[in-house]
Amino acid sequence: MLAWLSHSRSAWLLLALAVLLSTCAVFYLSQRHLVSAADSLKYSLRKQQTAGHVLTSLLDAETGQRGYLLTSDARYLRPYDEARTLIDSRLEKLATEFADDPKQREMIDKLQALSRQKLSELERAISAHGDHGAAASVAVVKEGKGRKIMDEIRGLVTEIETASEADARQRSVEYRRNVAVANAMLVLFTVTALSVLAALYWVMGSEVELRKRAAEEHVEYAANRDSSIKELERERNAMAVLNELSNFLQSCHTISDVGELAGRSLGVLLPDTSGALYLYSPDRLKLSAAASWGDVARAEFQPSDCWALRRGQSHAHTPLGSAPLCGHLSGHSSDDSLCIPVMAQGEVLGLLTIHRPARHAVAPFNEEVRRLGLIVARQLGATLANLKLRETLNEQSLRDPLTNAFNRRHFEVVGEKELALARREDRPMAVVMLDVDHFKLINDIRGHAAGDATLVAVSSYLQKNIRNSDWLFRYGGEEFVLVLSDVGHAAAVTKARELCAGIAELGVVHDKQLLPRVTVSMGVACYPEHGTTIAALIERADEALYASKEAGRNRVTMAGRAA
Ligand code: GH3
Ligand code: MG
Ligand code: MG
Repeated sequence: MLAWLSHSRSAWLLLALAVLLSTCAVFYLSQRHLVSAADSLKYSLRKQQTAGHVLTSLLDAETGQRGYLLTSDARYLRPYDEARTLIDSRLEKLATEFADDPKQREMIDKLQALSRQKLSELERAISAHGDHGAAASVAVVKEGKGRKIMDEIRGLVTEIETASEADARQRSVEYRRNVAVANAMLVLFTVTALSVLAALYWVMGSEVELRKRAAEEHVEYAANRDSSIKELERERNAMAVLNELSNFLQSCHTISDVGELAGRSLGVLLPDTSGALYLYSPDRLKLSAAASWGDVARAEFQPSDCWALRRGQSHAHTPLGSAPLCGHLSGHSSDDSLCIPVMAQGEVLGLLTIHRPARHAVAPFNEEVRRLGLIVARQLGATLANLKLRETLNEQSLRDPLTNAFNRRHFEVVGEKELALARREDRPMAVVMLDVDHFKLINDIRGHAAGDATLVAVSSYLQKNIRNSDWLFRYGGEEFVLVLSDVGHAAAVTKARELCAGIAELGVVHDKQLLPRVTVSMGVACYPEHGTTIAALIERADEALYASKEAGRNRVTMAGRAA
């Protein structure tokens, strides 16, 4: 664009110069014509004058002759002699001046001849006066020949002057026309010169402007290039961190590992920011921080406190913007914040929050931050989903799928370990075996699904009412085993009775119908009193359970005696 403008301006400048030169040439020619017209006019006037001068000289010669003839004083002949000399040169001059005009040339020739005749007539009178006296010269004069020639000369000079005057008039017209043309050319030349000057000024000004703009563009280009290079470097660094994060995430075995890595990487990727990775609790009623960096808002909150989780898409807030602030970030109302749901296969697993003190001069969380946040959230989602799947598979091999209690195989492992621990630490331990009473009736009367619901309810009740350190196993069918660590036989019986009474109070709803209440029978065996191996303890607990059944069910029996 600039190059084209520059070319077109140069073309305009060249054109203006060409016009100026042409005008110059025309002006020059008009001046030359004017000079030549002036010369012609001057020449024509001079011719007119020269013819007059010839006549004047002849009259002077005649006056001198007359003076001599009257006085016989030779001094009067001096003007006559001078006039003679002048007449010759003036006649010659006339011949030269009229050489270009054949018609006038004829008249000049005639004037020359007459002038010579007149001079010889004057001469004749003078000679007669000198030779024969005044009377002889008077006789010559009286002949009237000289007067006649003089009359002819006067007429001829008048004729020449008239012709010359007409010529001069014509040349004068020509001269005036040339003056008008020359003036017009002067105006044209002046206007053209001023226009060219203006064009030159414009072109130079434009050129300066173009160069200035080109210099500015160059500076801008250099600045853009620098910022692009920095942008690329930042991008490359970010990609390196993201790659590293991705590699490390693949080797994570626990969620806390994931959280720690995410916090570390985001701290590097998004300097000056704070944030956290929140994960849903198993019941999905709240979210807890699995990892954090910088100044973290809250350790846990409800899903309804976050707009991103409510709307299922990332949510950005800035103090000056119209988007609302999430409740879980209420302590950071002056921050720019960004909440990104962490998802995998359509399931929301948690939330990534990023916030930093608002700097209004800088765009709040630009596309770059959002892009990086989304990439990290996606990577976290995939990793968490993998971990969850792994955990689920793991759990499934340890737990009973219906009741979620640990299965009998796991009991074999845990029971031995707990017993070994109790033995090493010299602590008591209790094994409680329990069986749902008349369970078959529920299946028979309310159906198998109602039986399943009853088993789930019993299992869930037991799980909720034992300590975290205790274990619940589904031993088979409608039989469960509890392993209560660090519990002596009195405490074990008390706990068993509590549980027994609690289950008897359970109201199980299935298919919108309340099922008949169920009871359980229990047998308790304690380490070390009733056995020192798991097999022995199970056997004793089973015997005690059998005793409870025998005794009428819905009760607890301590091994070795009726409870
Ligand atoms: P008791 O008081 O003597 O223990 O009588 P009971 O009916 O509970 O005992 P019984 O051994 O006669 O019946 C147990 C029934 O439990 C038989 C079996 O079909 C049923 N059962 C075992 N496992 C499951 C299960 O996973 N779901 C359901 N619905 N029933 C099961
Ligand atoms: Mg049974
Ligand atoms: Mg039973």
